[in-house]
Amino acid sequence: MKPEIIYVDKKSQIPLYGIDFIGVIDRGTNVIELKPLTLCNLKCKYCFVRAGDYHTNFIVDPEYLLEKVEEIVEIKGKYKIEIHLAPYGEILLYSKLFELIDNLWKIKGIEIISMQTNGLLLKKETIEELERVHLSRINISLNSLNHEKANYLSNCNDYNLNNLIKNINFLLNTKIDLLIAPVWFPGENDNDIEDIIEFIINLRNKGYSENKIQIGIQKYLIYKTGRKLKKIRPKSWGYFYTQLTNLEKKYDIKLKLGPKDFGIHKRKSVTSLKLNKNDIMDLTVISKGRWKNEFIGKINDNFGLKVLLSKSISNPNNLIGKNIKVKIIKANYKDNILTSLFSI
Ligand code: SF4
Repeated sequence: MKPEIIYVDKKSQIPLYGIDFIGVIDRGTNVIELKPLTLCNLKCKYCFVRAGDYHTNFIVDPEYLLEKVEEIVEIKGKYKIEIHLAPYGEILLYSKLFELIDNLWKIKGIEIISMQTNGLLLKKETIEELERVHLSRINISLNSLNHEKANYLSNCNDYNLNNLIKNINFLLNTKIDLLIAPVWFPGENDNDIEDIIEFIINLRNKGYSENKIQIGIQKYLIYKTGRKLKKIRPKSWGYFYTQLTNLEKKYDIKLKLGPKDFGIHKRKSVTSLKLNKNDIMDLTVISKGRWKNEFIGKINDNFGLKVLLSKSISNPNNLIGKNIKVKIIKANYKDNILTSLFSI
């Protein structure tokens, strides 16, 4: 069955704060994360948000997003703001991407606009457009330079590695900075990570600066609700950093990047809802979520809440518009995201 698409605009009344998979995420820093859509062109075997096979997808109206960004920049202060486009999906599937970036620059205080992509949909014309709208940095999640391995990890038969490398080379000669962000799956792509390090060193040896081409190796995080790579056992952060230190020594390259390397610093947050785990609250169900047992609850015009049902129901539309009592089961105050449970 083709997934349904829900368009999120002001009229939809779906709030843009508080839901992890759409809208605006504020982690109390100068970086404002935007999630304009949930569609993805891949179904990676390791995807922690299980993108690519949602029952319902979401696309957010750029005007609605811009309105929220303006509000949040006002709160944070109009200086050194970075907008990071990082959907639970693929940003290059967002048809209003260039319009969104163009208009974001009109908001005083925004100094960096960066985005995350798997890169497979890049082409020369798209890169030229991204340069025209002054994208500052593009983060590409490339986990292997081996075609078979890339196919395996991204769960597809035709991962076009050659094209991606061609586009990386094209990006190097634009004003857009580039960050290659492989995920390290211990025991699965160890050699591939070293290949990527050598690839970066080789580019730097050709004269591209450390700012122009960066590498940010990411730890493989396993989530209960995400897709998991078989046979990979989770490793501690201590183990991860020790391995990075060893590789830094071996290749004489900085691999441990922290907030300071990206100019990330603490800033005022959007007011928190001050709800705690196990609190019971009333809300209105405003929309379906990505899965059969997931809904979006509306607390007020600004804040939404992810509502999980204790079991699936045969006609989810019947729940829309209902006022229900839910119990908070997860409260993440760092990014102001809450999850609740509705028992039926
Ligand atoms: S890991 Fe990224 S590219 Fe892969 S399915 Fe998830 S969101 Fe899409």
